[in-house]
Amino acid sequence: MTTTIHKNFIAGKWVASKSRKTFANINPARKGEVVGRFQQSTPDDVERAVAAAVAAQAAWKKTPAPKRGEILFRVAELLVKNKEALARDMTCEMGKVLGETRGDVQEAIDMGYYAAGEGRRLMGETVPSELKDKFCMSVRMPVGVVGAITPWNFPIAIPSWKLFPALVAGNTVVLKPASDTPLSSVHFAKLFEKAGLPPGVLNLVTGSGAEVGQPLIDHPQVNLVSFTGSTDTGRVVASHCAGLMKPYSLEMGGKNAIIVMDDADLELALEGVIWGAFGTTGQRCTATSRVIVHKKVMKKFTALLLEKTRALQLGDGLLPKTDVGPLINEAQRSKVASYCEIGRNEGARLLTGGAPEIKGALKQGFFFQPTVFGDVSPKMRIAQEEIFGPVVSLIVCNDLEHAIGLVNDSSFGLSSAIYTRDVNRAFQAIEGLDTGITYINASTIGAEIQLPFGGTKGTGNGHREAGTAALDIFTEWKSVYVDYSGKLQKAQIED
Ligand code: NAD
Repeated sequence: MTTTIHKNFIAGKWVASKSRKTFANINPARKGEVVGRFQQSTPDDVERAVAAAVAAQAAWKKTPAPKRGEILFRVAELLVKNKEALARDMTCEMGKVLGETRGDVQEAIDMGYYAAGEGRRLMGETVPSELKDKFCMSVRMPVGVVGAITPWNFPIAIPSWKLFPALVAGNTVVLKPASDTPLSSVHFAKLFEKAGLPPGVLNLVTGSGAEVGQPLIDHPQVNLVSFTGSTDTGRVVASHCAGLMKPYSLEMGGKNAIIVMDDADLELALEGVIWGAFGTTGQRCTATSRVIVHKKVMKKFTALLLEKTRALQLGDGLLPKTDVGPLINEAQRSKVASYCEIGRNEGARLLTGGAPEIKGALKQGFFFQPTVFGDVSPKMRIAQEEIFGPVVSLIVCNDLEHAIGLVNDSSFGLSSAIYTRDVNRAFQAIEGLDTGITYINASTIGAEIQLPFGGTKGTGNGHREAGTAALDIFTEWKSVYVDYSGKLQKAQIED
């Protein structure tokens, strides 16, 4: 079988990298299977892409926002039409089960429709003036050229969170996707092309963080960097952008926790923990990696959790019986294995899992056993650091106040959840949990696009994606004063 070679999308054309080199994208469920080859781009390709985005910016900014929104609406329609094929290809390059890759595409569909509608809103404010015959308003202006850098765990959804709001606001974009999942970005860019997006408004350059990501961040004509990925890379993005006085938004790691109180519906909490910890093989920024259980129900909950965890089926995400797909690559699997080793050495009790899964056909992929640690103390590294795999730590709590303190004892602050039947406890948790997202009687995963998404502390830098909050990243406020008095009026001076 011949392997398709995919190109970069620059100035409305599909072009090869100047390097003339490509890299392979492999199926993590069957590492011998090459999903496609992609351009191993260089700073020269970034230069071309940024030049195209700069050239397209003025006309795109001039295009009325409702017209921009109409094109995005057509992209959403094309996503609907192609949902199944996109989801299947995404499972092949990323590994998560088909139900979840369909959800990934659905998230982009939701964002597309939402942003398209924003083309007829993009609301600012009108406020009274302190002077007579003077009108005051604020309007949103595009920032210019956006450099968008994305991770591999949501190959279409995360690019969509950046592209749709950036484009509806009148920016042009250069997208650099993760090298483990470039196929979904190529598919996504093709839909923008098909929907009639003018050349240069969206450009796609594949390749490494060093050869593509870094030059994109540093490029003087890139006005804003929107990054989602690890905290380590986020720190690099932040330091470079700070040096250049360039605005940037960061969406980074998490160490998300579910609290299970003694009055919780334990079966419901169990489903939430299984879904949160092992969905996407634990490779979500919002994955449940700590479960803080009230001492009165710890024994019972642990038994239920172990039974359900051991019953999970590992396998190729395209197979209907599969619950948990592979990890993304060997490096990630080694990292997860090393955390299991760290957990054991720290004195946590390995209750199930803890090793790569190499039985039968599974040895062809990067599979790892769903893992539960008991007797985890809050300062252990497995309770503090992002593992990004199917590993969950059980931590005991005495009461709600104790539980909230444990959740907040983290350098991250993305998502949290509490299972309780007591409305007072639920509201105390909403108030006390220092995370960007809190769920009541639902897992730590499952954000909807019409609300702000992001976290506190080491998870972000104060911005939020999704909802109208995303527009605060992708626009600059302009305050406008219209004086129709025909004379000089002095604010703060005249009565
Ligand atoms: P990563 O940081 O390794 O890579 C993210 C992107 O940055 C990739 O495209 C990569 O090529 C690029 N990159 C790497 N080095 C770079 C550099 N020096 N300059 C510019 N770009 C560079 O992250 P990953 O492994 O792809 O993704 C997993 C991480 O993403 C996890 O930590 C997860 O929590 C986080 N994540 C966060 C969110 C969120 O919204 N908070 C969502 C999904 C994933």
